[in-house]
Amino acid sequence: MLNFLIFGPPGSGKGTQGVRLAGKFNLLHLSTGDMLRAEIAAGTELGKKMSLIMSKGELVPDEVVIEMIANKIDGSSGCAGFLFDGFPRTVAQTAALEDMLNKRGMKIDSMLVLDVDHDELVKRLILRAQDSGRPDDSDPAVIENRIDVYKSKTEPIIAYCRERGIYEPVNGMGGIEEIFERLAVLMQKHF
Ligand code: ADP
Repeated sequence: MLNFLIFGPPGSGKGTQGVRLAGKFNLLHLSTGDMLRAEIAAGTELGKKMSLIMSKGELVPDEVVIEMIANKIDGSSGCAGFLFDGFPRTVAQTAALEDMLNKRGMKIDSMLVLDVDHDELVKRLILRAQDSGRPDDSDPAVIENRIDVYKSKTEPIIAYCRERGIYEPVNGMGGIEEIFERLAVLMQKHF
């Protein structure tokens, strides 16, 4: 089994590319953002609690997403590995993921980091809000907060993964197809 992180700030294209790459390489695409939005849509107690945090652009507690991911890993079968999207988002989540994978005889094989300019991120998120209806995309102040949270809490994961020799930066500027090709070439090398 091969495990990839697709990593980058909000609006960097993780979800768009994640779905396609998972299809190409027969990986299970695990997006904690999608899982949390599914809880909200289903009106669960957890969803109700998390929706306020998400609408402000803050991170939900580590233990919530760690448990969601563990359940998905244990309930999966028939895939060549996992593509983690929007998870981990803190160094604590990264350590928990490593631990979870190690216990199951796996590891994080590669961290693909999409590099995108700040102005382009804001532009993409505002555009996305028009179709997605995501409340966290519609408010410029929430967008800026999500980018700040990324820089302070999430970006430190890059140094952590660099030390482990699994960091692979990718130019995330350009068209969807050309970025997909850049990512696919890097991933292919692991198979
Ligand atoms: P984006 O990459 O555009 O920010 P996501 O769909 O990955 O969108 O996440 C949306 C929101 O869900 C985040 O702003 C955060 O509130 C919450 N969230 C998603 N994944 C995590 C996570 N791993 N840890 C904490 N909060 C998370």
